[in-house]
Formats: sequence, C-alpha cells, structure tokens
Amino acid sequence: MTQLNILVVEDEDAIRDMLVMVLEQSGINVIDVPTAEAAQLSLADNAMPDLILLDWMLPGISGVELARRLKQDDLFKELPIILLTARGEEEDKVRGLEIGADDYMTKPFSPKELVARIKAVLRRSGKKLEDELLNVSDITLDIGKHRLTIAGKSLDVSPTEFKLMYFFMTHQDNVYSRTQLLDQVWGRSAYIEERTVDVHIRRLRKILKAYGKDELIQTVRGFGYRFSVID
Ligand code: CA
Repeated sequence: MTQLNILVVEDEDAIRDMLVMVLEQSGINVIDVPTAEAAQLSLADNAMPDLILLDWMLPGISGVELARRLKQDDLFKELPIILLTARGEEEDKVRGLEIGADDYMTKPFSPKELVARIKAVLRRSGKKLEDELLNVSDITLDIGKHRLTIAGKSLDVSPTEFKLMYFFMTHQDNVYSRTQLLDQVWGRSAYIEERTVDVHIRRLRKILKAYGKDELIQTVRGFGYRFSVID
C-alpha cells in the first residue's frame, strides 16, 4: 500500500512531537505545523495529505475555523479531519462534527486509540488500507474479509453487527447513546427506530456470550452503551 501522509496541526510542542512520533512509528509520513496559517501554506505547497489531525485551540485562526474553511472549499472538502481537543464537552463535539470534521478526540488519548481512529476515518472516506486486523481481548476483526473471530473461531455475524462491533472496537470506553450509534453505525440518513440498536446489541451479546465476552458491551442506564474491557 502507498504510504499515508498526515498533516498535524498542533501548537503545543510536546503534544506535536508525541503525535509525530506515534504516527511515524506506525509507518505514516508526517508533516507537522504549529498554526492554522502554517497549515494553509503547507496545503498550498505540498501534495494533498490523506488526513489532517487538527488541534481545536490554536493561536490565530482556530482549528475549528480552519476545519470549517476547508470543508467549504471544493478542493479540500473531501479531506478527512480529526479534531483534537483538551475539552470533552458534548457541545464541542457536536459543533466539531457539525462543521464537517470526520471525528473528534479528547486529549489525552492513547497512541493505539489515535491510530485506530485514523484508520477508521480513512476507511469511511474510502481510502484503501492494507488488510487489517483489530484485536481486543481475544476478539479479532478482519476488516478486509469482514470476519469476526473469537479465540480463533470464526463466527457468523450480519454486516450490521460487524459494523457495530467495528465501531465499538475503535471507540472503546466511551458511552454512546442509541442516537449516536444510529448516526455512526447505520448512517445519518437512515431512518431507523432507536430500539433497532437494542435488537442488534442483544444479538451481538448473544454471540459474545458463548465465549464469555458479552460483558464487554455494557449498558449505561439512562444513556446508552459502552464497549470496554474494564468493568
Ligand atoms: Ca492548542
């Protein structure tokens, strides 16, 4: 596969260096800049990156403003953007996604989570990625082959359950409401009742239960669901 190019826009040196290191260790080519203005120059001067990791709070033009501008620009509107923020407020997340960011991550996050999110965003945007395996607690998702295995045994799951599992495995430890799961897994345009989510969660749990893994999908009362290896 061709090497991925990612533009990192982050004003804090320590975080920027960490991001560059993590991405380079994953075999990704990185250009890093400290401001939105420098990012605009880089985008004008260099080959189109495959994705931008964009810090929300930047001196000068903010990250969210740069994201908004890029998403309104015909040349850049298809360029995937992951917004990074130190704040975890739901309002920010909604605003970030409203202006067209493809995903949103709250600092601090683990390198593993970052790379998983990048791959998820790139896959959604239709980039070709190498056959890839996701592993969590003996559960393996083979993305290319659309196959779920637990402890080496291949299991029958519907495409929706596969997508749900994929979403959970790339978004561990966060709680998602039924509406959020519908948006993320079924797609924004789908008109599906919220209890459909419960039906698919129940099926997925049943499959996992045979291997003692059903507790990975946790019900958070009054809110929704969480996938976590931590109780
Ligand atoms: Ca910042």
